[in-house]
Amino acid sequence: MGAAAVRSGKRVAEISGLAERAARAASGFASLGIGAGDVVAVYLRNDFPFFEASAAAGLVGAYSTPVNWHNSPDEARYIFENSGAKAIVIHADLWRGIEKALPKNVPVFVVETPAEIVSAYGLSAEAAKLPAGTQDWGQWLAQFPPITAGPAEAPGSMIYTSGTTGHPKGVRRAAPTAEQAAAWGQVVGTVMGFSPEYGEPQNMVTVVTGPMYHSAPNAYGLFAFRVGANVILQPRFDPEELLQMIDTYKVTHLHMVPTMFVRLLKLPDEVKKKYDLSSLRFVVHAAAPCPVHVKQAMIAWWGPVINEYYGGTETGAVVFCNSEQYLKHPGTVGKAVQGAKVMVLGENGEELAAGATGEIVCRIPAIPDFTYHGDDEKRRKAEKAGLIALGDIGYLDEDGFLYLCDRAKDMVISGGVNIYPAEIEAELHKMPGVGDCAVFGIPDEEFGESLCAVVQQQPGAGLSEADVKAFLRERVAGYKVPKRVEFQNDLPREDSGKIFKRKLREPYWQQAG
Ligand code: ATP
Repeated sequence: MGAAAVRSGKRVAEISGLAERAARAASGFASLGIGAGDVVAVYLRNDFPFFEASAAAGLVGAYSTPVNWHNSPDEARYIFENSGAKAIVIHADLWRGIEKALPKNVPVFVVETPAEIVSAYGLSAEAAKLPAGTQDWGQWLAQFPPITAGPAEAPGSMIYTSGTTGHPKGVRRAAPTAEQAAAWGQVVGTVMGFSPEYGEPQNMVTVVTGPMYHSAPNAYGLFAFRVGANVILQPRFDPEELLQMIDTYKVTHLHMVPTMFVRLLKLPDEVKKKYDLSSLRFVVHAAAPCPVHVKQAMIAWWGPVINEYYGGTETGAVVFCNSEQYLKHPGTVGKAVQGAKVMVLGENGEELAAGATGEIVCRIPAIPDFTYHGDDEKRRKAEKAGLIALGDIGYLDEDGFLYLCDRAKDMVISGGVNIYPAEIEAELHKMPGVGDCAVFGIPDEEFGESLCAVVQQQPGAGLSEADVKAFLRERVAGYKVPKRVEFQNDLPREDSGKIFKRKLREPYWQQAG
């Protein structure tokens, strides 16, 4: 591909072109009085202006804050207001959906939605066009000379968590010190594969397929851009299209989530065999649990190039494992990366020994400390034993490998017994005909809580409640077989790989008062 470029569909933007547009946008931001510590909200699908706006904010010392465009208008309004955004950059089709939620008196720059995004999402061409009376991002920034002076202050980051368990939390942190930046660079090299071991940056080719509003693909996409790798944006994950891109562009690096693996594995054998995937050097996944059989099947297909890390918006990646380590420790999410501390705590905050299940806490000093924007109390509660609790339950093995059981908020206590729905979901994913599933607790007069499974069937599967229960009865203990099984066409699973169980759970608890 030659010089490092960002490509999307048939469009290619050379890094130098993107950098110049960012420098112009930065001088535009400065003319609006946007500077150190301010927030520019980026409400864009994976597209070139994402890089332009993010780099421009950084050049004036401001935070570039991506906002989840799957949000309802009210949820989006919450983030615009909570972050105190001083400018918003948004795609035209997204603007139409949340126009009323946009704060008044904040400049809004609209980006026409490109054809490949229109087709990937089945949007109407009308929705994608620049709405009359809005400010076109490209025209606006073209009026300004590229910024020449450096930033007043190096920006840190301000990015929201996914909101899986409640309102998204704005995680704000200062810029790293030089020492931290060097240490973090090494960790990122390890967990994302952008290290000399995997070639020169100009020979690296990656596809950013997860939505860049989520902290993991965001960090991944921006890091790949900064190191000078060739970046391809896939507006929306499509399994066969990804295979085709790997073959055509000789893709070396990927960042994925487990649902993408599940969809890739479901492709017919003749499709899987059609493409040459031998260019792949480093594939990493995170963000949501990956069932063991899925991971093993991916390693069998793609070879020992599948890596994993675990962490959160607050902590960055804290543990990592490669394929070899995974095959020796099936089900692990990895071992502490250089400098990271990971512990499992019991109910009284005591450190538990290997094998014992409790709350996971972790931290890596290479990442500057954070605050939850506007919520000191929450920040205080997140800190345990000097480390950060992300709200996950799990255990460490004798070799220091970490295993997740579930999110603390998703654990179900039925008749005094702890049940981890993730274990039941992993089994259900093996059932032929199951497209996706979620298991969660619902009110139960006798047991306090009981299990409910919601299953999304593959087209024409024709599964019944009895089929699902019978399948599980053979694989898990009787008390883990959900009392209730429901079928739904569209589960609230985001492109970031996370399933929004609170949205599924809420109606049952509201009914129960
Ligand atoms: P919120 O904090 O708003 O409820 P969230 O915790 O989902 O949302 P993120 O910071 O985006 O916000 O995600 C971090 C969480 O993602 C972790 O706490 C963990 O539950 C999950 N996660 C990350 N990596 C992995 C992994 N490799 N396997 C399983 N789950 C993972």
